[in-house]
Amino acid sequence: MGDRPERDRQLDALYVASREGVTVDRQAAFDAARLQRALDAVRADMRATGLTGEITLVRPDWAARNAVVETWAGDQGWTAGIFPADAADDLSALVAVAEQARQAIMESLDYQYTGLVWPACPAHGLGSSPTAHHGRGVWWCEAGDGHVAAEIGRWA
Ligand SMILES: [Zn+2]
Repeated sequence: MGDRPERDRQLDALYVASREGVTVDRQAAFDAARLQRALDAVRADMRATGLTGEITLVRPDWAARNAVVETWAGDQGWTAGIFPADAADDLSALVAVAEQARQAIMESLDYQYTGLVWPACPAHGLGSSPTAHHGRGVWWCEAGDGHVAAEIGRWA
């Protein structure tokens, strides 16, 4: 019936919302596509770790310009979201989206009650966090001196 996939509509929503701000249209569309690619990488890690729920990029009512990752359960993390500047390059977009996804997913896993962290380092069981490391986006585990648990989007 001509309906486009939900994902395209959300991308449009992101685009339109950016246009309503002061962002240049073409740049906003490019940024949204970059954030969407980052989200795909995080989604791959979710699947690799056995999570089947869906995550999407949305613009919440409470944020004027920022985007957040929303989970299957409606959680959106606990920080201010993804700033327009985060989408300025692939690496910062990847790390920002992964961090928002991590927060939202942990909320949906009820981590405060269950103690479940995501993504958990396979070697230590600790929650890992996204960071830029030698030019790549990685899930970083703080155990010991710290180490790369996996490259974002390439969880084993
Ligand atoms: Zn570890």
